[in-house]
Amino acid sequence: EDKIVWSDVDDYLIDKLITIDSELEDILRANEEADLPAIDVSPTQGKLLYLITKLRSPKNILEIGTLGGYSSLWFAKALNKGAKIYTLEANSKYANVARKNIEQTPFSDQVEIIEGKALETLPILDEREVQFDLIFIDADKENNPAYLNWALKLANKGAVIIADNIVRNGEIIEEHSTDPRIQGVRSFFDLLENHPQVESTAIQTVGQKGYDGFVLAIVK
Ligand code: SAM
Repeated sequence: EDKIVWSDVDDYLIDKLITIDSELEDILRANEEADLPAIDVSPTQGKLLYLITKLRSPKNILEIGTLGGYSSLWFAKALNKGAKIYTLEANSKYANVARKNIEQTPFSDQVEIIEGKALETLPILDEREVQFDLIFIDADKENNPAYLNWALKLANKGAVIIADNIVRNGEIIEEHSTDPRIQGVRSFFDLLENHPQVESTAIQTVGQKGYDGFVLAIVK
Protein backbone atom coordinates (compact mmCIF):
# COMPACT_ATOMS: atom_id res chain seq x y z
CA GLU A 1 0.00 0.00 0.00
CA ASP A 2 2.83 2.41 0.88
CA LYS A 3 4.39 1.60 -2.47
CA ILE A 4 1.28 2.69 -4.33
CA VAL A 5 1.36 6.06 -2.57
CA TRP A 6 5.12 6.48 -3.22
CA SER A 7 4.59 5.74 -6.88
CA ASP A 8 1.58 8.04 -7.21
CA VAL A 9 3.49 10.85 -5.50
CA ASP A 10 6.41 10.25 -7.88
CA ASP A 11 3.99 10.51 -10.83
CA TYR A 12 2.76 13.84 -9.43
CA LEU A 13 6.31 15.17 -8.92
CA ILE A 14 7.36 14.04 -12.38
CA ASP A 15 4.32 15.72 -13.86
CA LYS A 16 5.11 18.98 -12.03
CA LEU A 17 8.90 19.18 -12.31
CA ILE A 18 10.26 17.01 -15.10
CA THR A 19 9.73 18.56 -18.52
CA ILE A 20 8.86 15.96 -21.14
CA ASP A 21 12.06 15.20 -23.02
CA SER A 22 11.71 12.97 -26.04
CA GLU A 23 15.41 11.99 -26.08
CA LEU A 24 15.20 10.61 -22.54
CA GLU A 25 11.84 8.98 -23.18
CA ASP A 26 13.12 7.40 -26.40
CA ILE A 27 15.85 5.68 -24.39
CA LEU A 28 13.36 4.16 -21.95
CA ARG A 29 11.22 2.98 -24.87
CA ALA A 30 14.21 1.48 -26.73
CA ASN A 31 15.35 -0.26 -23.54
CA GLU A 32 11.93 -1.80 -23.07
CA GLU A 33 11.84 -2.94 -26.70
CA ALA A 34 15.27 -4.54 -26.25
CA ASP A 35 14.08 -6.26 -23.05
CA LEU A 36 16.52 -4.48 -20.77
CA PRO A 37 15.55 -4.61 -17.08
CA ALA A 38 13.88 -1.36 -15.92
CA ILE A 39 16.54 -0.71 -13.30
CA ASP A 40 17.56 2.72 -14.55
CA VAL A 41 17.24 5.69 -12.20
CA SER A 42 13.75 7.23 -12.01
CA PRO A 43 13.08 10.57 -13.75
CA THR A 44 13.25 12.53 -10.47
CA GLN A 45 16.54 10.81 -9.59
CA GLY A 46 17.88 11.45 -13.10
CA LYS A 47 17.02 15.11 -12.69
CA LEU A 48 18.89 15.14 -9.36
CA LEU A 49 21.99 13.78 -11.14
CA TYR A 50 21.52 16.49 -13.77
CA LEU A 51 21.23 19.23 -11.12
CA ILE A 52 24.27 17.98 -9.18
CA THR A 53 26.20 18.02 -12.47
CA LYS A 54 25.15 21.63 -13.05
CA LEU A 55 26.25 22.54 -9.52
CA ARG A 56 29.67 20.93 -9.94
CA SER A 57 30.43 21.70 -13.65
CA PRO A 58 32.64 18.61 -14.01
CA LYS A 59 35.22 18.32 -16.77
CA ASN A 60 34.84 14.53 -16.72
CA ILE A 61 32.22 12.24 -15.20
CA LEU A 62 32.74 8.53 -14.54
CA GLU A 63 29.68 6.29 -14.46
CA ILE A 64 30.01 2.63 -13.48
CA GLY A 65 26.91 0.81 -14.82
CA THR A 66 25.47 2.16 -18.10
CA LEU A 67 22.52 -0.16 -18.80
CA GLY A 68 20.82 1.58 -21.79
CA GLY A 69 22.37 4.99 -21.14
CA TYR A 70 19.37 6.66 -19.47
CA SER A 71 21.31 8.14 -16.53
CA SER A 72 24.27 8.80 -18.89
CA LEU A 73 22.02 11.05 -20.97
CA TRP A 74 20.77 12.93 -17.88
CA PHE A 75 24.41 13.63 -16.99
CA ALA A 76 25.35 14.52 -20.57
CA LYS A 77 22.54 17.08 -20.80
CA ALA A 78 24.05 18.99 -17.87
CA LEU A 79 27.65 18.96 -19.11
CA ASN A 80 29.47 22.04 -20.32
CA LYS A 81 30.82 22.05 -23.87
CA GLY A 82 33.99 19.97 -24.11
CA ALA A 83 33.18 18.03 -20.94
CA LYS A 84 32.64 14.27 -21.11
CA ILE A 85 31.06 11.29 -19.40
CA TYR A 86 32.84 7.94 -19.51
CA THR A 87 30.41 5.13 -18.76
CA LEU A 88 31.33 1.50 -18.09
CA GLU A 89 29.14 -1.49 -18.97
CA ALA A 90 29.98 -5.19 -18.69
CA ASN A 91 27.02 -6.59 -20.64
CA SER A 92 27.72 -6.31 -24.37
CA LYS A 93 24.03 -6.40 -25.32
CA TYR A 94 23.30 -3.51 -22.95
CA ALA A 95 26.36 -1.61 -24.18
CA ASN A 96 25.15 -1.98 -27.79
CA VAL A 97 21.69 -0.72 -26.89
CA ALA A 98 23.27 2.21 -25.02
CA ARG A 99 25.52 3.06 -27.99
CA LYS A 100 22.54 3.10 -30.35
CA ASN A 101 20.50 5.16 -27.89
CA ILE A 102 23.20 7.78 -27.42
CA GLU A 103 23.89 7.96 -31.18
CA GLN A 104 20.30 9.18 -31.63
CA THR A 105 21.02 12.21 -29.44
CA PRO A 106 23.20 15.30 -29.99
CA PHE A 107 25.50 14.12 -27.17
CA SER A 108 27.39 11.24 -28.78
CA ASP A 109 30.67 13.25 -28.77
CA GLN A 110 30.35 13.71 -25.02
CA VAL A 111 29.48 10.14 -24.00
CA GLU A 112 32.10 7.41 -24.22
CA ILE A 113 30.73 3.94 -23.54
CA ILE A 114 33.46 1.54 -22.47
CA GLU A 115 32.47 -2.11 -22.70
CA GLY A 116 33.85 -4.66 -20.26
CA LYS A 117 33.88 -5.45 -16.57
CA ALA A 118 34.59 -2.22 -14.74
CA LEU A 119 37.45 -3.72 -12.74
CA GLU A 120 39.11 -4.47 -16.08
CA THR A 121 38.31 -1.16 -17.79
CA LEU A 122 39.05 1.23 -14.90
CA PRO A 123 42.81 0.56 -15.28
CA ILE A 124 42.52 1.72 -18.92
CA LEU A 125 41.15 5.08 -17.76
CA ASP A 126 43.98 5.24 -15.25
CA GLU A 127 46.53 4.59 -18.01
CA ARG A 128 44.88 7.29 -20.11
CA GLU A 129 45.29 9.58 -17.07
CA VAL A 130 41.65 10.69 -17.10
CA GLN A 131 40.69 12.36 -13.80
CA PHE A 132 37.11 12.88 -12.66
CA ASP A 133 35.07 15.52 -10.83
CA LEU A 134 31.92 13.41 -10.50
CA ILE A 135 31.63 9.65 -10.14
CA PHE A 136 28.40 7.66 -10.17
CA ILE A 137 28.67 4.09 -8.84
CA ASP A 138 25.68 2.08 -10.09
CA ALA A 139 26.77 -1.42 -11.14
CA ASP A 140 27.29 -4.76 -9.35
CA LYS A 141 27.01 -3.88 -5.67
CA GLU A 142 29.41 -6.69 -4.67
CA ASN A 143 32.21 -4.55 -6.05
CA ASN A 144 31.19 -1.26 -4.41
CA PRO A 145 34.22 -1.29 -2.07
CA ALA A 146 36.59 -1.79 -5.02
CA TYR A 147 34.75 0.90 -6.99
CA LEU A 148 35.13 3.34 -4.11
CA ASN A 149 38.87 2.73 -4.06
CA TRP A 150 39.04 3.25 -7.81
CA ALA A 151 36.89 6.37 -7.53
CA LEU A 152 39.31 7.82 -4.99
CA LYS A 153 42.28 6.93 -7.17
CA LEU A 154 40.78 8.64 -10.23
CA ALA A 155 39.11 11.61 -8.47
CA ASN A 156 40.22 15.20 -8.42
CA LYS A 157 40.13 17.02 -5.10
CA GLY A 158 36.54 18.17 -4.47
CA ALA A 159 35.07 15.45 -6.67
CA VAL A 160 31.53 14.28 -5.94
CA ILE A 161 30.89 10.56 -5.54
CA ILE A 162 27.32 9.22 -5.73
CA ALA A 163 26.46 5.55 -5.14
CA ASP A 164 22.96 4.24 -5.84
CA ASN A 165 20.90 1.45 -4.24
CA ILE A 166 22.48 1.53 -0.82
CA VAL A 167 19.35 0.77 1.24
CA ARG A 168 17.84 -2.05 -0.80
CA ASN A 169 14.44 -2.17 0.85
CA GLY A 170 16.09 -1.93 4.26
CA GLU A 171 18.14 -5.09 3.81
CA ILE A 172 21.45 -3.33 4.43
CA ILE A 173 20.98 -3.56 8.18
CA GLU A 174 20.98 -7.37 7.95
CA GLU A 175 24.45 -8.06 9.28
CA HIS A 176 24.31 -11.77 8.42
CA SER A 177 22.70 -11.42 4.99
CA THR A 178 23.87 -14.09 2.56
CA ASP A 179 23.23 -11.75 -0.38
CA PRO A 180 26.65 -10.68 -1.71
CA ARG A 181 25.15 -7.38 -2.88
CA ILE A 182 24.12 -6.55 0.68
CA GLN A 183 27.55 -7.51 1.98
CA GLY A 184 29.13 -5.40 -0.79
CA VAL A 185 27.14 -2.35 0.25
CA ARG A 186 27.88 -3.02 3.95
CA SER A 187 31.62 -3.22 3.24
CA PHE A 188 31.28 -0.02 1.23
CA PHE A 189 29.84 1.69 4.35
CA ASP A 190 32.65 0.19 6.45
CA LEU A 191 35.13 1.86 4.10
CA LEU A 192 33.31 5.20 4.24
CA GLU A 193 33.16 5.11 8.03
CA ASN A 194 35.90 7.50 9.21
CA HIS A 195 37.57 7.47 5.77
CA PRO A 196 40.28 10.15 5.82
CA GLN A 197 39.76 11.08 2.16
CA VAL A 198 35.96 11.60 1.98
CA GLU A 199 33.07 13.31 3.71
CA SER A 200 29.81 11.49 3.10
CA THR A 201 26.15 11.10 3.88
CA ALA A 202 23.37 8.74 2.78
CA ILE A 203 19.75 9.58 2.02
CA GLN A 204 16.91 7.07 1.99
CA THR A 205 14.45 7.39 -0.88
CA VAL A 206 11.01 6.08 -1.83
CA GLY A 207 9.20 6.30 -5.15
CA GLN A 208 8.52 4.45 -8.38
CA LYS A 209 11.59 2.29 -7.80
CA GLY A 210 10.55 1.26 -4.28
CA TYR A 211 12.48 1.90 -1.05
CA ASP A 212 16.16 2.57 -1.53
CA GLY A 213 18.73 5.33 -1.16
CA PHE A 214 21.99 6.86 -2.27
CA VAL A 215 25.33 7.91 -0.85
CA LEU A 216 26.68 11.37 -1.57
CA ALA A 217 30.34 11.99 -0.81
CA ILE A 218 32.96 14.63 -1.50
CA VAL A 219 36.65 13.91 -1.89
CA LYS A 220 38.75 16.05 0.43
N1 SAM B 1 23.00 3.75 -14.41
C1 SAM B 1 21.96 3.08 -15.19
C2 SAM B 1 20.78 4.00 -15.32
O1 SAM B 1 20.35 4.57 -14.30
O2 SAM B 1 20.26 4.17 -16.45
C3 SAM B 1 21.52 1.80 -14.53
C4 SAM B 1 22.62 0.82 -14.28
S1 SAM B 1 22.03 -0.77 -13.76
C5 SAM B 1 21.37 -0.45 -12.17
C6 SAM B 1 23.53 -1.64 -13.41
C7 SAM B 1 24.35 -1.96 -14.64
O3 SAM B 1 25.65 -2.39 -14.24
C8 SAM B 1 23.77 -3.09 -15.50
O4 SAM B 1 23.60 -2.64 -16.81
C9 SAM B 1 24.84 -4.18 -15.42
O5 SAM B 1 24.98 -4.93 -16.63
C10 SAM B 1 26.09 -3.37 -15.14
N2 SAM B 1 27.16 -4.15 -14.52
C11 SAM B 1 27.06 -5.21 -13.68
N3 SAM B 1 28.27 -5.65 -13.33
C12 SAM B 1 29.17 -4.85 -13.96
C13 SAM B 1 30.59 -4.81 -13.99
N4 SAM B 1 31.33 -5.68 -13.32
N5 SAM B 1 31.17 -3.85 -14.73
C14 SAM B 1 30.44 -2.95 -15.44
N6 SAM B 1 29.10 -2.96 -15.44
C15 SAM B 1 28.46 -3.89 -14.71
